[in-house]
Amino acid sequence: MTVFACARCGSRLTPNLRRVPAPGYDLIDDPTLLYQYIPRMLPGTFAVDPEPFGPSDIRCAATRGTVILNPGDIRGTKAHTDYLRRSGCCRPSGTYGPNLVCVVCGSEVATEQTDCWTAPAVHLEPAAVMTRSGRTAGSAVDPRKGPGRRRIR
Ligand SMILES: [Zn+2]
Repeated sequence: MTVFACARCGSRLTPNLRRVPAPGYDLIDDPTLLYQYIPRMLPGTFAVDPEPFGPSDIRCAATRGTVILNPGDIRGTKAHTDYLRRSGCCRPSGTYGPNLVCVVCGSEVATEQTDCWTAPAVHLEPAAVMTRSGRTAGSAVDPRKGPGRRRIR
């Protein structure tokens, strides 16, 4: 089980989550599943995204190794103050970069992707979060990246 926290201030961002394999892209590419609000991840689980994730119009800004959550499992965040980041059709589409910030320190920690045409999910920024063990999310996946700076509060 893993808890994710803000790497800057240590504030808790998730409950205890169980790692599972990343969901296949077939699910979100299946047009019959669009507009049905079927979350990409079950509550209580997380996966490391094997695909780059990030602003769709800025290919080089995509991040590898984002941590995918069910939208109900994110906490301790608030909406980004940049309205563009929160834009979408019905809800935030997540196509303009991280749109959730740590409620304590304001660090850009995650992207909510819950618009009507998406498979709803929240993606944690690997460089902005750490796990309970004090490692960054990226290092939890790749031990060569070393430990994080602070422990969770
Ligand atoms: Zn923080």
